[in-house]
Amino acid sequence: MENSKEMRKWLDEMALPHPLVIAGPCSAETEEQVLKIAHELKDSDVNYYRAGIWKPRTRPGNFEGVGAIGLKWLQKVKEETGLKTATEVANRAHVDLALEHDIDMLWIGARSTVSPFIVQDIADALEGTDKVVLIKNPVNPDLSLWLGAVERLHSANIKKLGVIHRGFSSYEKTKYRNIPEWQLAIELQTRFPDLPLINDPSHITGKRDMVFDVSQTALDLNFDGLMIETHFDPDNAWSDAAQQVTPDTLKQMFIDLKMRKETDLEAEYNSKLSNLRAQIDVIDNQLIDTLGKRMKVSDEIGKLKRQKNVAVLQTNRWNAILGNMILEGEERGLSEEFVLRMFKAIHQESINHQEKIINAS
Ligand code: PEP
Ligand code: MN
Repeated sequence: MENSKEMRKWLDEMALPHPLVIAGPCSAETEEQVLKIAHELKDSDVNYYRAGIWKPRTRPGNFEGVGAIGLKWLQKVKEETGLKTATEVANRAHVDLALEHDIDMLWIGARSTVSPFIVQDIADALEGTDKVVLIKNPVNPDLSLWLGAVERLHSANIKKLGVIHRGFSSYEKTKYRNIPEWQLAIELQTRFPDLPLINDPSHITGKRDMVFDVSQTALDLNFDGLMIETHFDPDNAWSDAAQQVTPDTLKQMFIDLKMRKETDLEAEYNSKLSNLRAQIDVIDNQLIDTLGKRMKVSDEIGKLKRQKNVAVLQTNRWNAILGNMILEGEERGLSEEFVLRMFKAIHQESINHQEKIINAS
């Protein structure tokens, strides 16, 4: 995708404010609900009104969306409030219906992005459209799958293309519903700086009281927009009740969020600096997390050694690790001295842990 510049241009050409704001309920439930929320969001920072019409649910038996009738409600939203409309499409029939109802923005959900067959089918159905098409990251943390979907849509001659970062599922229990794995979004942004990147803090957090902080991180990382699930009665929403915020909360969020300044040279310097620092913060957290995981594995080794009454220090193994890491470090521009110092510290900590385990009574 050598011409990724074209992707950003549409955002500038449409003269949309920064950040782009997409908000509305997870699901369209009733005509009254859809219109009430839209009216409450009318005079706010919201540019696009979202509502899921066809809902991909992990387990059957949950509310699976109102279907095509919801598209008429979205048309009414546009007539009555002037808000542009957005919904998820997952197959050719959805695309045809959404286009017939003049939906302005279509997004491909995380469960669809994982399937090249589905993505290709949607790309074929959308061929040449001038609607905005956004691609959510796949459920699993696989950058090439995400990029593959972007390439399929781009090849279908869709000019107003962008991506939505909604986090990734993980086997481990974390405070997030879907772990952000910010480095994946950052890598995508680095490779295609002109592809608009929207953050979806609702699906990342799964909890409304965490939505603000994740939104701020996204803005700090120079995301182009936010998609935030909004409902006048979140607790009684028919889907994703825990993560939706009220229209009032959303409005307050946009008063409190710190926006990036991009006016003069000084501001550009500052915003670049804070973007890089935010990246460093994310990476440092990962470093600590990885070190913690390494130490847990080391503890397991300590338990094994205790069972067999084997010495903690295994010189051959240690020398092999060091030699390897010095080479790996060299390839990444890290000095031998630094790698040695770092691994000696890690090794020492590991020995301390194993010592405790092997000598525990
Ligand atoms: C949604 O936006 O309501 C949705 C189903 O999202 P995702 O595809 O990210 O799970
Ligand atoms: Mn949802």
